[in-house]
Amino acid sequence: MDYSTKVIIFTAPSGSGKGSILARVLPLFEDIAFSVSATTRSPRKGEINNVHYHFITAEQFQNHVKNNDFLEWEEVYEGTFYGTLKSETYSLLNQGKHVLFEVDVKGALAIKSYFKDRALSIFIQPPSLEELKKRLIERGTENEKTLQQRLKKAETEILQAHLFDKVVVNYELDKACTEVEEILRNFLSQN
Ligand code: 5GP
Repeated sequence: MDYSTKVIIFTAPSGSGKGSILARVLPLFEDIAFSVSATTRSPRKGEINNVHYHFITAEQFQNHVKNNDFLEWEEVYEGTFYGTLKSETYSLLNQGKHVLFEVDVKGALAIKSYFKDRALSIFIQPPSLEELKKRLIERGTENEKTLQQRLKKAETEILQAHLFDKVVVNYELDKACTEVEEILRNFLSQN
């Protein structure tokens, strides 16, 4: 494995603006590759299989669990599974890429304890739970049940933000993007 490559772990409650930040910042770093997770949830409008996620069935997911194919996996929401495939991670690292993971808090802590100082964990915090709820409603991807699930998870995750190496509060998208870009440049320039 190429140990000069690094690992970046990006965590943020659903609706905190993480997608927008990544969409702006990632194209600035040619040497960072996004690790595509596997999930049993259905694709949202605009999501592409094997680009945003590997959309797989519950049975396929269980087979990966049985075969020990995941670096980490979680039942993030009741009945919906997400996981990081070891094959995906090592293939990118071996190509000489830094790898960026977009996972929940538990996944982030698992990946951080696996890669230790080779990894930097960043938590994107919404300005408030009210603002998060507003953004999730505006996004229009959730029904009442999934909205409540996501808000409850966000509340728990925000309380764990201090476990991350860096916390960026997304008051304003431009500022949050600049902050994330600086954090990444700093981390990647260190030996
Ligand atoms: P969404 O359904 O909004 O795409 O993602 C829901 C949650 O699952 C987010 O918090 C996201 O970070 C998390 N997630 C996505 N992929 C993975 C993964 O591979 N492992 C873990 N633990 N969480 C993931």
